[in-house]
Amino acid sequence: MTVDRRSFIRSASLGMGALLVPEYSSSPLLRPPGKKLGIALVGLGNYSRGRLAPALEETEHVRLAGIVTGTPAKEKEWGERYNIPAENIYNYDNFDEIASNDDIDLVYIVLPNSMHAEFSIRGAKAGKHVICEKPMATSVKDAEAIIKACEDNNVKLQLGYRLLYEPNTREFYRYAHENVLGEVRAVESSNAFYAGDGWDNWRFHGELSGGGPLMDMGVYSLHAVRHVMGTEPVSITAQSFNVRPKFKTIEETILWQMHFDNGVIANCMSSYSARVGGIEVHADRGTFRLDSAFGYGPVIMYANGEFLNIRHTNHQAVQMDAFAKNILNDTPVLSDGMEGLKDMKIIEAIYQAAKTGKKVMV
Ligand code: NAD
Repeated sequence: MTVDRRSFIRSASLGMGALLVPEYSSSPLLRPPGKKLGIALVGLGNYSRGRLAPALEETEHVRLAGIVTGTPAKEKEWGERYNIPAENIYNYDNFDEIASNDDIDLVYIVLPNSMHAEFSIRGAKAGKHVICEKPMATSVKDAEAIIKACEDNNVKLQLGYRLLYEPNTREFYRYAHENVLGEVRAVESSNAFYAGDGWDNWRFHGELSGGGPLMDMGVYSLHAVRHVMGTEPVSITAQSFNVRPKFKTIEETILWQMHFDNGVIANCMSSYSARVGGIEVHADRGTFRLDSAFGYGPVIMYANGEFLNIRHTNHQAVQMDAFAKNILNDTPVLSDGMEGLKDMKIIEAIYQAAKTGKKVMV
């Protein structure tokens, strides 16, 4: 289901939270595939190695069929480990040849942020359905170009927002939408990890990352705040600062406030010099919160201090299976391109507000 601004507002005004977190997993397969869809991982770094490839050993409707890597040693290593035939192994130069490979139905772009647009667009032009990691791109313009390429080539697009498919997170949003503890009055969220001085990575280079912790970690907070509120913020204020010399082309720590048209303000923080990951909603009759809110699980929910024992899932397996079912059934994608684009618009507004010190309208 595409959740546009109008349906956000409608769901908020009617208290119809279900519009925001539509069911995605209960629909049966309309066209049983006979075999699982084939996915190619594009970029074999930590997330592909540590999470996506293992998750693909649990998925019901999609299997690891191909890889795209710039590192020849990984071709051999991954090929042997996952039994990937040589004809399904590509590099960044010959990636477009994937168009003629019927064994591969979709590609998952797991590269540095600045490469998401190029490879998502090339994947779409090759006629493959696309999963693009967060943040969608390094600019609103690029995010729009990804959506257009997928539309023009009649392929589906999913953003790697695995938590939209996570049961504790979905219950958390339901609490907000159905006013379980009363009206939402304020929201706080932080997401940060400590990046040691000795660690170098594309994340710390603005030309590859497009920004600092906001792009990497803060996007989870602003995305969750949007879904708690069920509407888009009207304006943004923000502040950023750097203390450690490690951070030369990106911000080290950023704080921002998302102002909503009902008067509510969400206060958020992201940093490469802290360790935290949570979201807390203050309502008339108490507070509900998610601990370890943005990690790989378990995500833990409390309502007025009481632990809610909700089942845990393999986030990545559920997300990829949901997309496979969208493809097989030709149904709308929950974490669609608009989700990524809306987040990118807010990210740009946050950076502008931090730079100018002024309130920025979204
Ligand atoms: P990583 O640094 O571990 O891997 C990046 C991969 O890109 C490596 O295989 C590297 O060889 C390759 N690469 C190609 N060109 C490169 C270049 N010019 N510079 C650097 N590396 C290059 O990163 P990661 O943690 O796997 O993150 C990849 C993407 O996945 C990012 O967009 C990140 O935001 C996203 N991610 C999402 C989640 C999630 O939970 N959804 C978690 C982690 C990462």
